[in-house]
Amino acid sequence: MKITAIEAHPLRVELREPFAFSQWTFHQRQTTLVEVRTDQGVTGWGEAYGPALPNASAVRDFFAPMLMGRDPRDTEALWHFLFARSLDYGQKGTMLAAISALDIAFWDIKARAAGVPLYRLLGGAETESIPCYATGFYFGGDEKLETRFAREAEGYLAEGFTAMKMKVGLGVERDAVLVAAVRRAIASSARLMIDANHAYTATEAIALGRMVEPHHIGWFEEPVSPLDIRSYLEVKRRITIPIAGGEAEYTRFGFEPLLRRRAVDYAQPELCACGGISEGMKIATLASIYGVHVTPHAWGSAVGLAAALHFYAALPGPPATLTPPQKLIECDRTENPLRAEIVEAPVRFHGGRLYVPQGMGLGVEVRSAALPRFQ
Ligand SMILES: [Mg+2]
Repeated sequence: MKITAIEAHPLRVELREPFAFSQWTFHQRQTTLVEVRTDQGVTGWGEAYGPALPNASAVRDFFAPMLMGRDPRDTEALWHFLFARSLDYGQKGTMLAAISALDIAFWDIKARAAGVPLYRLLGGAETESIPCYATGFYFGGDEKLETRFAREAEGYLAEGFTAMKMKVGLGVERDAVLVAAVRRAIASSARLMIDANHAYTATEAIALGRMVEPHHIGWFEEPVSPLDIRSYLEVKRRITIPIAGGEAEYTRFGFEPLLRRRAVDYAQPELCACGGISEGMKIATLASIYGVHVTPHAWGSAVGLAAALHFYAALPGPPATLTPPQKLIECDRTENPLRAEIVEAPVRFHGGRLYVPQGMGLGVEVRSAALPRFQ
């Protein structure tokens, strides 16, 4: 089997209602889908997380020409070939997002050619569905946040969610009030996590952590800068809430110190950025050595979500006990037409769980005809 064409599709859609997190306001959603075609009629799709045009250019202008004629089923060989070619220019960021998209598309092809869902090639699925948490509670709008957050929380409960994650990073005192409001709204009906998107210094993150500890927080995500492992360790030492992070980290080489030094309790690789399926599996193996849970970051289109589900379904669970903690995967609830409208059938959500697609490959069929609308 030979690669005959690679196309990058940078996609963008304006939002009806902008929303903000601790770093900036989103006015649009964007992502890049990558389509790899072969001489045997099998086509695979991948996704690059991050700024659409630079990622698309890295795929189209840099990597694609060197891949023509290669067998896409040689996933490991191709990963190292691409990584070696870009190592001198970008060990994180755009180059890795581009490699991620290509790697996911190669795995999609490999599984389709074998006639099986992708998880079968990764070791098989432990379960057919995975509990998920609603990612929401962004900032913005005219309504008082306490009121909107309480209503949003009740909405997630009504949809069947048993876990949800709220944004923090508006300032320690303000955050504490909002966390209390959400906990009050959901009582003990759901797990609650908080995500600062590295808004804080260690001192501030510790102060917030201590204020919200009584609200039984499942994890405190990205409390401090991803560049500052010492602050991660300091926060971890001084609060009892488990720490999560890693969505801004790349490859096994980037994750290794976080895992070895136990800077996080939950590692959150983004499959569409960290290096794809091939590298995600290696990061997960490292995490298992150091006793760190893995819970994939998933904030893109249906393609990226499907990749995360196959990857996560195939990972071994935590060390065996009679009542092991369940896996928990992200389920973005913000406005994003790219999640559902670009595929034949969106990833199935029911009863607080996401279902691993059972079709061949990634198990989601991209509707090429739907893409021009977003280009
Ligand atoms: Mg996050």
